[in-house]
Order: sequence, then structure tokens, then C-alpha cells
Amino acid sequence: MLNNSPISQFKYGNHTFFVKRDDLLDKNFNGNKARKLAYYLENDFPATNTIISYGGNQSNLMYSLSCLAQLKNWQFIYYTRSLSKTVKDSKQSNLELSLKNGMQLIELDKEYNQFTSSLCTTSNQLLICQGALQIEAEYGIKQLAEEINKWAVLNYLESINIFLPSGTGTTAFFLQKHLDKHQVITTNCVGSRDYLIEQMSSINYDNSKLPLVIDNKQYRFATPYEELLTTIREINKVSQIEFDLIYDPVGWKILLENLETIKGSILYLHCGGLTGNYSMQQRYNYLKNKSATS
Ligand SMILES: *Cc1c(COP(=O)(O)O)cnc(C)c1O
Repeated sequence: MLNNSPISQFKYGNHTFFVKRDDLLDKNFNGNKARKLAYYLENDFPATNTIISYGGNQSNLMYSLSCLAQLKNWQFIYYTRSLSKTVKDSKQSNLELSLKNGMQLIELDKEYNQFTSSLCTTSNQLLICQGALQIEAEYGIKQLAEEINKWAVLNYLESINIFLPSGTGTTAFFLQKHLDKHQVITTNCVGSRDYLIEQMSSINYDNSKLPLVIDNKQYRFATPYEELLTTIREINKVSQIEFDLIYDPVGWKILLENLETIKGSILYLHCGGLTGNYSMQQRYNYLKNKSATS
């Protein structure tokens, strides 16, 4: 079982930040993806021998599914859009590592949307939606919420703020559902604020309170921005913690910009994802070289 990740803290400016270190759950199978998939890891599925999923070609979930499949001794079939040569050749990337773990990759072209929205599976196959935006994710995220609750009680913190950047919002949504004394705050990294709220609402079967979403209007998903790199380098240096280069630069930038509106202690949830850093760093280097030569 993967649980009870430690909580570190660091000071930046006048603020103390606590960090829930889900990046340390396990070397390979970690972060919020390990929490989302804990249900599959900790239960038995005697009829299952294959995972079916789909989505982006460098996705953190894809890599975590390849780890889960390995741990369970299952096959893993993953559908994605046709790959560019740069992506195919990418080294030390989620794609390369997932293929090394035995993932069977199927590239689809124009038919991708239609195919993935109407995927049918047989009884030996487990279908995991893009981003694991599904009710099974609640199991492991509830466990994470209980760890945070316990820590807050032990430290006499009646009400704290838990911050994390969102993709589908699955993690933020289930955390808020199980942290009713505390405030979960997030920001949209993929698509608009409205889209994030729509995604969270799609798994809100019992009308739970949604987390607070601070609007990110500026930064597009997985796109390098000079000022985001500056922010995350600064946070890496001060905290002595390595953060992910896709979600966390947006997360920290938005959090720091809105600090004065947040009252009370802040616990930042480290969602793992470090295996994707090498390939994202390459894109940042490319941006740097381009601006240096132009
Ligand atoms: C997947 C991921 C997220 C977003 O998780 P959601 O539950 O889809 O909102 C945030 N940070 C990292 C590092 C991730 O890998």
C-alpha cells in the first residue's frame, strides 16, 4: 500500500508553505495518479488482464498506468493521436518509459475522437478514462484527505487551505469532498475555468461543495513561458524540492499572485509527475535557444 507521504515545509518571503510530498510515495508509481489508481492497486480483479486507456502522448496518467499494469502483471493498451517524429524520438519521456514498461501504443488519426468516445471493452479489460475522471478515483483521494485531516488535527490547525493545480479537477474535487473543514483551492491548467468546473460537476453525483477555482486566463497547457520557468526555479531553489514542469509552474505562479486573498496556513499538494520533466525541460531549452538567436 502506498500512503502516508510526509509533509515538508519551507519559508518564502513572509510565508510558510507546507508541502504534502506525494512525489515520495514511490519512485515510479507516485503523485496524484497513484492516489487515483489506488483502488485498482489495492483490490483484486481476477477477471482482468488488460488495461485500456487513451489520451495525450506524454501524459503522466499514461506512465502511471504502465506502472500499474506492470505491478499487476496486466497488458496495457493505449490509444493516442498520431505521433510527430520529435515525440517518437523523445528520450527519458513518459512515452519512452511507458513503452519500456510494456505499453502497447495504438496511434489513431482522424478517427481518434469518435473511437475513444465510444470505446467498448470486454470482461477481461478495464477501461480507464482520460485523466481518470471517474468515481473509482475517490478511493485513493479519500485516503489522501484523511492523511491531511489527521495532520491538521495533530498540529492544532482548525482550518487550512490546500492548494493544487488542476487538469481534470478529479483530485481537487474528491479532496474537497472529504475535507469539509478545510478549503481546497485550485486553478485551471487545461482549458478554461468553466471547463474545469464542468469536468468536476460530471463526477459530482451527490451535490458536494466544489473547490475554489482561481481563474488562470493566461497560461496555455504544457506551453513554455519564461516567467513560469523563473517562478518554478525560484521555488525549487528555496524549497529544495523538485516540482513538475507542466502543472506546478502555473500552480505556484497563480498561488503567489493570489496570496493576499488566502487567509490561514497553506498546504501545497505535490502531485508527482517528475518523470515528464526531462522532455518538458527540452521544450524550455528550445524556447531559450530561439529567443537567444532571434
Ligand atoms: C495529473 C496531474 C495534475 C492534475 O490532476 P487532476 O486530478 O486531473 O486535476 C496535477 N499535477 C500533476 C503533476 C499531475 O500529474
